Amino acid sequence: ELGEGTEWTGEKLETAIQNLEARLQEKPKDKPLKKAVRQLRKDLLPRLRKYEQYQKTLGSRNSFSKTDSDATFMRMKEDHMRNGQLKPGYNVQIGTENQFILAYSLHQRPTDTRCLEPHFKKVKQMLGKLPKTLIADAGYGSEENYAYLEKEQIQAVVKYSYHKEKSKAWRSQIGKIENWSYDEEQDAWTCKAGRTLHFRYESKERTESGYEIRKRHYRSVGCEDCPLKSSCTKAAGNREVTVSMEALRYRNRARELLRSEEGYALAVRRMIEPESVFGQLKNNRGFRRFLLRGLSKVTLEVGWLSLAHNLLKQATTDQKRKQAILQ
Ligand code: SF4
Repeated sequence: ELGEGTEWTGEKLETAIQNLEARLQEKPKDKPLKKAVRQLRKDLLPRLRKYEQYQKTLGSRNSFSKTDSDATFMRMKEDHMRNGQLKPGYNVQIGTENQFILAYSLHQRPTDTRCLEPHFKKVKQMLGKLPKTLIADAGYGSEENYAYLEKEQIQAVVKYSYHKEKSKAWRSQIGKIENWSYDEEQDAWTCKAGRTLHFRYESKERTESGYEIRKRHYRSVGCEDCPLKSSCTKAAGNREVTVSMEALRYRNRARELLRSEEGYALAVRRMIEPESVFGQLKNNRGFRRFLLRGLSKVTLEVGWLSLAHNLLKQATTDQKRKQAILQ
């Protein structure tokens, strides 16, 4: 086995085998060499080539289906076996307004978080502009997405773990930094026991797409004799917390907006916008499985579906309008 991080490629191995074969011609009676060459040529090289091909097909994904190599294994909402089975599929993103599909995009990653920016790029391509407001669920509420929306000057009515934050159970969790207070001047946190956690250092992380997250590290003193320790941390010594101040700033802003009358009114529209469109497509029209295979063909299929949906929607709207006039 070559293992991960090996520098052996199919090409290099082929050259090495050719060298060994040349040596074997000079010493045809060298049995161990003959055996090694045969194993390399018949077993190891084809296997390495196969894995290289898999790697190429995978790209940045961690799975692909053998029946449709563009499809990635994902957990589906439909789970008849009730065992969280993974199935090959595509992550379809749609943007709607008044239940008309304005734009769509397909992604090969299971989580929504990293689909937002590529989806908006597609939206810009299709519509020539971006929306002024985005209403989306907590699956899109990452620091990277908030930063992107701010850069594009899009109002973000995007939840994060907002619903959890409102619960009594969440608010009673002593160890959660969200339940502590922060002193900007001192750059220090005060925990539930009233002790101060001072800044120690800053570290940087990059997301898969290259976004930089700056994390600030704070540490408390004297946690050993704290009566709240068992509910606060499992750490043996003092408590150390890591926090991205940018993420906190975005969350505070999102919270403010979601609690406002305008934000609430916008947030409830999400339930009647994309959700009902997906409901129409999947439940009412029974479209639960793509008929074609391959990213480009399935993209086309979603396009036809969107077009049919919009035409039917327009026809119903027109009919209702006509009936209202006649009455
Ligand atoms: S364990 Fe440390 S950080 Fe947690 S509440 Fe007690 S003093 Fe504060």
